[in-house]
Amino acid sequence: MATYVRCGELFTGAEDRERRSQTLAIDDAGRLTYVGATDGAPVPGRGDSVLDYGEYFVMPGLQDVHTHLAYGNAKTEEDIDLYQPMEFRAIRALFFAQKCIAAGYTSICAPGDAGQISLSVRNAINYGLFDGPRVTAAGRYLTTRQGLTDWYPTWIGVPDTSIGRLVTSRDEAIEEIRVQAKNGVDCIKVALDGVQRRPDGELIAAFTQEETSAIVTEAHRLGRKVVVHARGREATLYAARAGVDLVFHAYYLDDECIDALLRSGSAIGPTLTFPRNIVEFTRPTEPAWLKGRIGDVQREYETACENLRRAREAGIPMMTGTDSGFAVTPYGEWHAREIEIFVDDLGFTPAAALRAATAVTAGFMASATLVGVLQPGRAADFIAVQGSPLNDVAILQDKTRIRHVHIAGKRVSVPPRGYDPRQVTDLAWTNWNDLYTQERVGELGIKPGRRRLAVRDSEM
Ligand SMILES: [Zn+2]
Repeated sequence: MATYVRCGELFTGAEDRERRSQTLAIDDAGRLTYVGATDGAPVPGRGDSVLDYGEYFVMPGLQDVHTHLAYGNAKTEEDIDLYQPMEFRAIRALFFAQKCIAAGYTSICAPGDAGQISLSVRNAINYGLFDGPRVTAAGRYLTTRQGLTDWYPTWIGVPDTSIGRLVTSRDEAIEEIRVQAKNGVDCIKVALDGVQRRPDGELIAAFTQEETSAIVTEAHRLGRKVVVHARGREATLYAARAGVDLVFHAYYLDDECIDALLRSGSAIGPTLTFPRNIVEFTRPTEPAWLKGRIGDVQREYETACENLRRAREAGIPMMTGTDSGFAVTPYGEWHAREIEIFVDDLGFTPAAALRAATAVTAGFMASATLVGVLQPGRAADFIAVQGSPLNDVAILQDKTRIRHVHIAGKRVSVPPRGYDPRQVTDLAWTNWNDLYTQERVGELGIKPGRRRLAVRDSEM
């Protein structure tokens, strides 16, 4: 039995314009057998089904290359690493993966998660146990002393339940890659930024060039792609010279980095939604504000946009991702904001941004040859949108406009179920207060009194 989809407008991901009066034909296996004018389309037979999406804009399912399934909308590093058992985190990850698909994201890459959480979610979905997006899974980040994810003091180390795996030598890195490959990851994630800076302020890479190259060579030898976290210039340069497939952030790249990235053919996943949300959403009572981070993040955002525009103009492919999984980027909420940022701040046309979020980003996914573009032989992963994102990409953030989501031809619908974040994530010990010296209390105009303390409403 075949399925025929009549599309009002069709954006295939392979070209910049929409086409009108088009039909998709899909076989039993969920593959497209025809993409073209309804006039010339094969005629549905008995038992075939026909879906009338004549009032919708049909396009490839959206792709987010940077969604951490195990983080659980974390507010702290401890939320990410410690407070929920691994088994709960895996179940929670599956629940949240479904939030992504409800937002029109048919493929996500989970680049760095504790244990084997994302590959277990991937398998459960691939085996048909649950509906969900196609997941491209990494294991734990390879990190080293002072690398991102080695965030506790040396006397604590990196606990087994962390998203990072501390490797302290080249041989340990190679060993970890082989373990992860045996476990079945699709890609290897490397924490390439350190947390130390040189006197001039430049971020120092966590691994050396030689170590980075050895890591990438071994991962590629085992048929795995490599994605690195690299905000800094040095880490971006090492990554490019080593031939990684994808660099996240690359905010401080310079001309030397651009040349190296062009030579290696690496893509950049800017992930600007995360800093943008931090700047716009943080309230004055929150730690990021109180610690004076908002100005820093805003300055970094502006520098990043300037540098990344140059990288785009130089022809470096850009992939869409959001760092969803933090409290400021909850699953299923802001994925499509990255597309809007590509248009507003990186100079993409709406069509180029949509192609970035589909065809280009699909290039990193495990099912790269199957998804991202609607053409015969590919999987029928598509969404039906009310309104044209070519006129306004922002409408993709309106979940009520994502009318239908299909994966391999099958319509997926996830019941809209809410959750209480205090139950599913917030177990970190951030229970108490800021510092209240007598001076500070005086400044705030608080008058500690001798009268009997009345219980305030909020405490009852
Ligand atoms: Zn990330």
